[in-house]
Amino acid sequence: MDALDAKYPFFASAREAVAAAAVSLPELVAADAPAVDRARERVERALLEGTVASESGSFPGESAYDAQAELLSYPIARILVSLLDSDPAIEKYAAAEAGTALERVRSDLETDDELRSVSSATVALDDLLAEFDLADAVRPDAAPAVGGAGGGSATAAGGPGRDPDHYWIGVGPYLRLTSSEWGDSWRLVNRAVAAGEVRVSRDELLTALEAAVEERVAEGLPFAVDEPIAGELESRVADLRRLLSERTYAEPPDVVAPALFPPCMTNLIEKAERDVTLSSAESFALMAFLVGIGMTPDEVVAFCADTSLDAEGIRYQTEYLTDERGTQYPPPTCETLANYGICHNEDDHMQVAADPLSYYEKRVAAADEVTDWRTARETDEPSEG
Ligand code: SF4
Repeated sequence: MDALDAKYPFFASAREAVAAAAVSLPELVAADAPAVDRARERVERALLEGTVASESGSFPGESAYDAQAELLSYPIARILVSLLDSDPAIEKYAAAEAGTALERVRSDLETDDELRSVSSATVALDDLLAEFDLADAVRPDAAPAVGGAGGGSATAAGGPGRDPDHYWIGVGPYLRLTSSEWGDSWRLVNRAVAAGEVRVSRDELLTALEAAVEERVAEGLPFAVDEPIAGELESRVADLRRLLSERTYAEPPDVVAPALFPPCMTNLIEKAERDVTLSSAESFALMAFLVGIGMTPDEVVAFCADTSLDAEGIRYQTEYLTDERGTQYPPPTCETLANYGICHNEDDHMQVAADPLSYYEKRVAAADEVTDWRTARETDEPSEG
């Protein structure tokens, strides 16, 4: 079993590798093999933290799990999700698998060509397009960039050894993989369209591919699980259910005091205020925190008005996060944020709390006086008439 299949277990080749392997999933489950523990971690972190990366470190290299455990944990995770039997859990699991996969793809694409040729555990954009039958539907933009929708000032060619900065994608695949709910800029009327193709930036193409991964992961879930294997996994499923109910915050602080925000969130806000685009992990962490402290989607949009974050994107993500159909996403833990390079653990304050929301709760509780940004905003707003 190779590392590439383990990194991208939803690829057709990975499915074939699992089918061809001389291992039986029921036997692995009965033996409580490392793949089962990794599968539990995969689902737990997907539901609670929006990632399926292992807490033990990134795969391959730093992770405590070998390629076999990593690859086989995927079909076992799908069994666990099926046994949880909850639509919101399936959505969150698929979104987390897709988000983590695209973080890995972005990192692979940054690996320069020379290194890529000696490491078979990285994908190129062409591999990904072929995997989703998009090879004929997407072509690099050969013309010099002209700006406009999906544009920017970058040139079409990304430079020696790099993928181009812009592409043309067929209207059909574009409409299937994107959603106007992602923001006005995704609406077809606001884009450069020519000869049945839509112009997209490289980053937008990757966002569309993330949707393709999510679609593939969710496909076929939930499925009926054979009784013996369901019985073996019963306690794991019960643990996941209990953990989910324990991790809901019954009483979020419901006060917006930016001066008391933890440094990780302040850093992200300042980064966005400098007009720097946040990665999906960064914007997820920030949105989950702001929703976690009781802000409504409208308030988050107003709060982030002068940042690189797009209002429609914020609204889509925050409405999803406040979705009451299932367990809410708590913000990722400090440990996860450290793994993503978001946390710098200033003054070792990770000792004080396990996640940014808990840290903020403690700071609010300890403060003598707290001014709510919402009250200050209402006071600043000009009165009507
Ligand atoms: S220790 Fe936690 S709260 Fe503090 S900066 Fe890091 S992630 Fe944020």
